[in-house]
Amino acid sequence: MKIVIVGGGAGGLELATKLGQKLGKKGRAEVVLVDRSQTHIWKPLLHEVASGSLDADVEGVSYRAHGHINGYTFKLGELSGVNPETRTIQLRAMQNAQGEEFLPARIESYDLLVLAIGSVANDYGTAGVALHCIFLDSLKQAKRFHQRLLEKFIQLNKRLEEGDTQSVLRVAIIGGGATGVELAAELHRAREWFATYGLKNLTAEHLQLTLIEAGPRLLPQLNERISGGAAAELVNLGVDVRTNTAVTAATNEGFETGSGELIAADMMVWAAGVKAPEFLTQIPGLEFNRANQILVKSTLQSTRYDNLFALGDCAGFSLPTADGKPRWVPPRAQSAHQMADTVACNVVRLLQGKSLQEFRYQDFGSLVSLSDYSAFGRLMGGLARGGLSLEGTLARWAYLSLYRMHQLAIYGWFRTLLITISDRLNRFIRPKLKLH
Ligand SMILES: Cc1cc2nc3c(=O)[nH]c(=O)nc-3n(C[C@H](O)[C@H](O)[C@H](O)COP(=O)(O)OP(=O)(O)OC[C@H]3O[C@@H](n4cnc5c(N)ncnc54)[C@H](O)[C@@H]3O)c2cc1C
Repeated sequence: MKIVIVGGGAGGLELATKLGQKLGKKGRAEVVLVDRSQTHIWKPLLHEVASGSLDADVEGVSYRAHGHINGYTFKLGELSGVNPETRTIQLRAMQNAQGEEFLPARIESYDLLVLAIGSVANDYGTAGVALHCIFLDSLKQAKRFHQRLLEKFIQLNKRLEEGDTQSVLRVAIIGGGATGVELAAELHRAREWFATYGLKNLTAEHLQLTLIEAGPRLLPQLNERISGGAAAELVNLGVDVRTNTAVTAATNEGFETGSGELIAADMMVWAAGVKAPEFLTQIPGLEFNRANQILVKSTLQSTRYDNLFALGDCAGFSLPTADGKPRWVPPRAQSAHQMADTVACNVVRLLQGKSLQEFRYQDFGSLVSLSDYSAFGRLMGGLARGGLSLEGTLARWAYLSLYRMHQLAIYGWFRTLLITISDRLNRFIRPKLKLH
C-alpha cells in the first residue's frame, strides 16, 4: 500500500509524522510526503518571517531529515494535477533560483492519496491586486517581503541621514483579520529593532502603517470588547486603523477606496480572505465549494473517491446549521490539526478493514498576538466552557502554546522540550531580528 500525502503544512506534516510512525516504520505501508518546498514552517508564523522576528533558516524543519527519523519518504515536487481513475498525481518540473530546471515533470502513483495543500489569498478579483500587492501565502513570499522591508528601511535611513526629513515608509495592509492585525504589530516592532541595530534615524513617525478593513471592526471572530482592545492597542502604536473601508483597486501609488480616496503606500499587503488553489477544480470527478475546496464526507474522504482524502484549508467540510445555509469548517491551523488526527485514524482503520471515524470539528477559540506588546483572544471548550476572554500575558502564553502543540505533534515531547530550551538560549545569543 502506497500512501501519498501532498502538502507538508500544519495538517499534512502532522499526518505524515503519525502515519510514518504507525505504518511506515513498521513496514505496513509506504508513506510518501510531497511538498513544493524543502522545509516546513508553520504557516501562522509567516508574518514573523516577513517582519524578520523569526529566522526561517533556523526554525524550518527539513522534510528529508524529519522523514528519515519518522518513517516516511519525502519527495520534492509541486502538484499540478490528479487523475483519480489511474490513481496518479502530476508534479511540475522544478526550477532553481536561476530559472534552470533541476527536476523534470513527473507522474507519481498512489493507492491512497491525501491532499493537504492549503490555501492562497483571495483577492476577490479586485483590480491591480495580483500585480501590486504582496501576499503571505508561502515561505518564499514571506522571505521576499522581509528582503524588501530590509532594503526599504536601509534606503530610508540613508535618506534621513542625508537630511531628507520628509521621507517615510508607507505600508498598507488589507484585511483586519488575525493576519493583518498581527502583521501590523510585527512591523511596528521590527522598526524599533532596526533602529536599535544601527538604523538610528528610523523613528516611529518614519513608518506609517495603515490597516484597512471593509467590515465595521477588526477581528470579527472575537467579541466586540476584545477586538476593540486589539484595535485600541494598534492605534496606540500609531497604526492608522480604517474600518468600513472597501478597497476597489490597487495601483502603483496605493489603494483606491469605494469613496474615491487614494491610500498612498510604498508596500501593499493583501491579507484578506483565502481560497483553495484554482487548479484543484480541474481534478476530474471531485466536487468543490465556492472557495475551491474539495467537498469531503464526514470521514474526510472526498465525496466521489474513497481512496482520496482532503484536509485543512483545501478541504470543504460542511457543518450542520440551524438555518440550512452552508457553513464550512474555518481555514485555521486548529482545523488542519484536528482533521489530520481523524485522517490518520481513518487511514489505519481502512487498512485494518474497520469502519471509519466521523470528523467532529471543535472550535477551541481564537488567539491573536500583537508582537510582544500584547495578545488577545477567546478560548472555547475544555475548561473554558461557555467561552473565556483573555488578554495580556495569559493570552500571549496561550498563543505561544499553539505552536508548541504543533511541535509536540511533529517532534514528540522530548525534542520539543530541547527545542524550547534552545529557543530560550537563542534569545540571549542571537539578535532579536533577522538582519540580512
Ligand atoms: C500570516 C498567517 C497567520 C495565521 N495565523 C493563524 C493563527 O493564529 N491561528 C490559526 O488557527 N490559523 C492561522 N492562520 C491560518 C493557518 O496557517 C492555516 O489555516 C493552516 O496553516 C492550514 O493548514 P494546511 O495544512 O491546510 O495548509 P498549510 O499549512 O498552508 O500547508 C500547505 C502545504 O502545502 C504545500 N503546497 C502548497 N501547494 C502545493 C502544491 N501545488 N504542490 C505541493 N505542495 C504544495 C505548501 O508548501 C505547504 O507546506 C494563519 C495564516 C497566515 C498566512
